[in-house]
Amino acid sequence: MEQYTGKSIYKSVAIGPVYFYSRGEQQVKRCKAEDSQAQLERYETARDRAVEELQQLYQKALKEVGEVNAAIFEVHAMMLEDEDYNDSVKNIIFSQQVNAEYAVAVTGDNFAQMFAEMDDEYFKARAADVKDISERVVGILSNKRAGSSIGREPVIVIAKDLAPSETVQMDKSRLLGFVTELGSSNSHTAILARTMNLPALIGVPVKEEWSGKLAIVDGYQGILYIDPDEETLEKMRKKQQEDRERSRLLQQLKGRLTVTPDGRKINLYANIGSVSDVAAVLENDAEGIGLFRSEFLYLEKDTYPTEEEQFQSYKLAAEMMAGKKVIIRTLDIGADKQVEYFHLGQEENPAMGYRAIRICLEEPEVFKTQLWAIFRASAYGEIAVMYPMITSVEEVRRIKAIVEEVKEELDARNIPYKNVEQGIMIETPAAAVISDMLAKEVDFFSIGTNDLSQYTMAIDRQNPRLDAFYDPHHPALLRLIRMVIDNGHAHGCWVGICGELGADLSLTKEFLQMGIDELSVAPGMVLQVREAVRKAE
Ligand code: PEP
Ligand code: MG
Repeated sequence: MEQYTGKSIYKSVAIGPVYFYSRGEQQVKRCKAEDSQAQLERYETARDRAVEELQQLYQKALKEVGEVNAAIFEVHAMMLEDEDYNDSVKNIIFSQQVNAEYAVAVTGDNFAQMFAEMDDEYFKARAADVKDISERVVGILSNKRAGSSIGREPVIVIAKDLAPSETVQMDKSRLLGFVTELGSSNSHTAILARTMNLPALIGVPVKEEWSGKLAIVDGYQGILYIDPDEETLEKMRKKQQEDRERSRLLQQLKGRLTVTPDGRKINLYANIGSVSDVAAVLENDAEGIGLFRSEFLYLEKDTYPTEEEQFQSYKLAAEMMAGKKVIIRTLDIGADKQVEYFHLGQEENPAMGYRAIRICLEEPEVFKTQLWAIFRASAYGEIAVMYPMITSVEEVRRIKAIVEEVKEELDARNIPYKNVEQGIMIETPAAAVISDMLAKEVDFFSIGTNDLSQYTMAIDRQNPRLDAFYDPHHPALLRLIRMVIDNGHAHGCWVGICGELGADLSLTKEFLQMGIDELSVAPGMVLQVREAVRKAE
């Protein structure tokens, strides 16, 4: 048995085989292969399997995200059956006498280049698709799967690093837990693990040779076991059992109010990254959605999601929540959430760079497309909208002017909408310090403690080396939170917390004493926070 320690980001236990994830852009080696017929057969088997997987993904996506969003998998399956594509692979295998992996990779590169050079925007966008399908086939051929294809059995995914766009594409029903070497506890991948209630460790020196071995992730102690012995297995199974028992007891809090013993009610909402998380929100009896990270809609795609696609997602969330509040945060792309088609380019300090509302204000068409979709969806439920990374009153006024234009345009199109509540995220020290001025402009504040911590302490939330310097309860942060609550209340704004600190049970009482109105946490934390509020004297 081998044993490694890391930093735990979700307290739970996972037992299962290791799936070693490596990035899609893995190098494909060119090998001489004289038996071309055998290589062709290998290719055809892998291609058929890829088509089958894509069809399954299509069915899954159809249920989770609707027909418009699911269509991409159908397109991918069709591309793999394209005659030109197949002829090219076959030709390379026979003429160059090389391995199937290489022939597929070269074909993928050539076709992608050909698409990228076309004038038509639609065909240009297909470049990424053809690379994607080629990587899927190479992954099957070389038994190293990337992206969404983590196989059929439930697995513990171990990787050097995981980007949010990679995690979000994995099949959640087959994930037991995560272990990575890089990343920090406030990184978006860590947040996703919490949203999915998965035990996860970071800072573990990972090895590819663990692939396929049995492992245990002990999220309570921050330990990864590889090839565990019987005694450890027994102990961990018992812990899992205790976990189940505890969540069974928490179930009794479903349907109960989130109210302190002296009768103060707070709104307990949940954070989501996509519509498919709404099921977990309902399952855990959250009273609303306090943060819909809308950028994941963009991360899942190879090109800008259309107004219609976004509208369908927001509408579905609003309808599923049946009158409960759904706060949609506008696009927060940039920093660790990179999307190729935005062409954001390299930056010295991406966290302090061109991101979130800054992009939206510079690219009003992108911003307006999203706002049209949000306002259209507002007619179907109780939607609110909030804006990320605000630093000045001027920005808020510019946003409000754009929103007015959006409403006028919807009026002109005869589309009904509601005058939704508008709020801002307080996640920069600048916004916290001028929160008295900002409060006069908006309906509510939602404190983003993940970014507010990194900017207040000058600690990059992506950098695991800084963990030793990171104090999640730093008095400067707590003072800022108190100040924001006081300023918000003085000017008629309600104030919530949607950063990870909102679920820190050791602070629940302090937040209540400060007068917090709302806490928005990972769905799996809702009942625990309700319990803490109900016990807070
Ligand atoms: C935050 O910064 O606290 C927040 C909730 O936003 P995100 O984690 O998506 O940056
Ligand atoms: Mg943030």
